[in-house]
Amino acid sequence: MSTPIPDSWLDDFPVLFGLPLGNPEEQATVEAEADRIYTVLGSSESPLKDKSRGVRFSDGAAEHIPLVAKALERVRQAGVSHSLGMPFDYYQSNTGRNPLEIHHNYVPTERQIRSATYRDALERGERSKFARDLELYPHAVEAAERGASAVKTVILASPRDAGNREFTVSRGWTQYRLAHKVVRAYKVHDCSWCGVVRCGTAIDMFLLVGTGATMYALGLCFECERRLANDPAVRNGSARVDVIFAWDDWPDSAGWPDQRSW
Ligand SMILES: [Zn+2]
Repeated sequence: MSTPIPDSWLDDFPVLFGLPLGNPEEQATVEAEADRIYTVLGSSESPLKDKSRGVRFSDGAAEHIPLVAKALERVRQAGVSHSLGMPFDYYQSNTGRNPLEIHHNYVPTERQIRSATYRDALERGERSKFARDLELYPHAVEAAERGASAVKTVILASPRDAGNREFTVSRGWTQYRLAHKVVRAYKVHDCSWCGVVRCGTAIDMFLLVGTGATMYALGLCFECERRLANDPAVRNGSARVDVIFAWDDWPDSAGWPDQRSW
């Protein structure tokens, strides 16, 4: 599943290459950066992504990988609760906000996120656009929930635990961004692949599978992740997969910046 890493990365991201670092603070910073890069590399909408991978929500994985096909089928048989709409507010969407400064184990407050959003919009000379977007947001969400546009959705799969839940992608959101928010905000305890429900342990790895307007986030337990990674189609690179992690707290720490900054 590897792609060639550009030479410049050796200087930019030394932690990826296991080089010793100066002091603990620097170590913590680069490790946080490495986490982010690791996640970003697995994502299909990242500007850092190697475009040659051609992956978009595990495109075609269900055709090439029997495990994926079976998991999808199981999830669909369980039915879906429609639709949870948009549980997150305007400030969590793609507002153009830059990443906030990251401090160890610190999540910026809503107030800080709001002022950073406003400040960044002012710096771009988009004060009136900001005001308009903020005002239109609830209407856009309502329109999307009523199906007034070609509505994309994200389904968080949990056929045996919480039930499959569907979320509407409205203005300012993408399926990818919404999936990230949803897997952090809602816990599921069942693996979509083997069906095992782990009491007390939430699933933290999800395969994103696109099927037209609907994108599924399929939870994977550790054993099934290994089975998937060992699938011949994945090993020989004929099928690529997009995975996200519920433990990835970089977007929280950075104040959920605009997706163009990931
Ligand atoms: Zn499993």
